[in-house]
Amino acid sequence: MDNNSINVHPLTNNPTAAWKEIFKNQKVLKLNVKTPCKPAEPNKVRFVCMSDTHSLIRNITFDVPDGDVYIHAGDFTKCGQKEEVIQFNKWLMSLPHKHKIVICGNHELSFDKKFSDCFKKTVSSRHTGSLEDEVPNYGNTKDNINDAVNTENVRQYLTNCIYLEDSAIEIYGIKIYGTPWQPEFGGWAFNLQRGEECLSKWNLIPNETDILITHTPPLGYGDLVCSGVRAGCAELLSTVQQRVKPKYHVFGHIHEGYGVFSDGKIIYINASTCDINYIPKNIPIVFDVPLPEGQ
Ligand code: 5GP
Ligand code: MN
Ligand code: MN
Ligand code: MN
Repeated sequence: MDNNSINVHPLTNNPTAAWKEIFKNQKVLKLNVKTPCKPAEPNKVRFVCMSDTHSLIRNITFDVPDGDVYIHAGDFTKCGQKEEVIQFNKWLMSLPHKHKIVICGNHELSFDKKFSDCFKKTVSSRHTGSLEDEVPNYGNTKDNINDAVNTENVRQYLTNCIYLEDSAIEIYGIKIYGTPWQPEFGGWAFNLQRGEECLSKWNLIPNETDILITHTPPLGYGDLVCSGVRAGCAELLSTVQQRVKPKYHVFGHIHEGYGVFSDGKIIYINASTCDINYIPKNIPIVFDVPLPEGQ
């Protein structure tokens, strides 16, 4: 199947209603996975996944299990301030994993240049009124957001990991792809309109992807918001199930969707460390992948 054959779902703008339709042909299994107590077998690669730590890593009360590859699926900061990135980068250095992979989420405002430029323009074109009144503050202060969007070349502070943004890396012959985009919600970084806009980014994911990392969940798996609505992306689900068919899909974003799910073929991991109240209490999710032949 080529990249352009995924269709936009007619109910894409109402994911809850779309899921009611799609659900009829889905098998959703909730998996009860335990953290392994032994190291990975020699012919396997151990992945350790977290997400949505929101600069609260100093508050975690669990140990991060050792493994070969550490994955963070975005929202490592509150608003992408330089100091937050430096702090996270320092913490990454303290982790024992040989490979560390990080993507952004909607909170990493400074990593989305288009967002930052646009935000600065909006603010400077305003003559009166306070910033808090007119632009969403994302639970941050005006100064923090201004500081974030004025950070130049923020990626330079993320030195202790492989940073993926619509890009891939191969580790031990395992193909991993990462992308930060999510369906629009509240005017954050890496927001895109549901439907064609989101799909245009999912179309960049190579068919040959073993582990997919996105910030947003796909529709129907780990995307149930506490209000009862679904927030995942319909086109991401179609792309994952019909075209890319990775072994694992790792994401976060919908904190209350934390857990491991399966459709019978693909394993979906919502690795959100923070819960809905931004308390970083969900433990990392660990899985082992057999080494491909010849590795
Ligand atoms: P964050 O601000 O960290 O990206 O998301 C925090 C929480 O906001 C999520 O756990 C979820 O409750 C809510 N949220 C984020 N994105 C969406 C969305 O697209 N739709 C809905 N209904 N809620 C969302
Ligand atoms: Mn989050
Ligand atoms: Mn594939
Ligand atoms: Mn998020």
